[in-house]
Amino acid sequence: TFHKSKGQHILKNPLLVDTIVQKSGIKPTDVILEIGPGTGNLTKKLLDAGKKVIAVEIDPRMVLELQKRFQGTPSSRLMVIQGDVLKTELPYFDICVANIPYQISSPLTFKLLNHQPAFRCAIIMFQREFAMRLVAQPGDKLYCRLTVNTQLHARISHLLKVGRNNFRPPPKVDSSVVRIEPRKPRIEVKQKEWDGFLRICFNRKNKTLGAIFRQKNVISMLEKNYKTVQALKISQEGSLNEADTKMDFSNIADFIDDQGMEVDDDGVDDDEDEMDVEDGGADEVQSEFKDKVLGVLKEGDFEEKRSSKLSLQEFLYLLSLFNKAGIHFT
Ligand code: SAM
Repeated sequence: TFHKSKGQHILKNPLLVDTIVQKSGIKPTDVILEIGPGTGNLTKKLLDAGKKVIAVEIDPRMVLELQKRFQGTPSSRLMVIQGDVLKTELPYFDICVANIPYQISSPLTFKLLNHQPAFRCAIIMFQREFAMRLVAQPGDKLYCRLTVNTQLHARISHLLKVGRNNFRPPPKVDSSVVRIEPRKPRIEVKQKEWDGFLRICFNRKNKTLGAIFRQKNVISMLEKNYKTVQALKISQEGSLNEADTKMDFSNIADFIDDQGMEVDDDGVDDDEDEMDVEDGGADEVQSEFKDKVLGVLKEGDFEEKRSSKLSLQEFLYLLSLFNKAGIHFT
């Protein structure tokens, strides 16, 4: 009577449980967080290795089972919290060891990576493909936004391949145990800015960045953000300066766009001065901004590069170049 929806696949191979605990590098002084203890096969060996186990389990039946199995154990050694780990405020812990339900892999990983104070490491069983995405390097087939997002906050390594037959009932996919070590100190980024930036870069991870940042919708989104930031700057500075002049200029362009005026191509009878402001102005602002964006790519030599091959450091550098030029992703 296991719940498939709760991802209940019990580890039935005791040697494998031993190996996981061994590879975790648990110290006798460690407070261990276990997520999804189930019937307690892993819990028992964690109790032998560390000072205290805090186990978060969503299924009340499993919690009862645990309480029965560990009846004599004092609460200073084992604490069972019944609840959804994603909705639980995590207590202090030194190390996390868990055989988790795979449907919570991604949110749980980010919850752990945002947990403060940072723990020493987390040893977690994931679905094989998810694990390979976490440990991927630039150029690997599975290198993706998830990879860069997690490696921003942690060093991640592959510990152990685990076949599906080590579980009861066996899941449909193979698994891998992964070690996640939070970076200390953290790499600080503005989270929304970073996220918006990566979404665009990985929108088509095999296209060149030059092609991605030439797309109309990308340019117009960035230009909108740019104008907002410039307008905020001006209202903060509040006086006439170079930025004010630029603002006026872009307002003219807005006006022309709104009126739907088009380039007059007969080029004969028109008032020359007015023409210069109208179509010259409208085109120039647009291409001026596009040139600004492409200029940033060229400055860092990124135009011909592809996200699928960019390192974390290169992503951080490119975002800093954009921000320095006043270009933002939120
Ligand atoms: N640790 C046990 C073992 O290795 O044999 C059981 C692992 S089983 C893959 C996952 C366990 O996580 C189940 O006991 C399930 O009830 C529990 N679980 C599922 N969703 C959860 C959630 N959101 N929060 C906490 N526990 C959850």
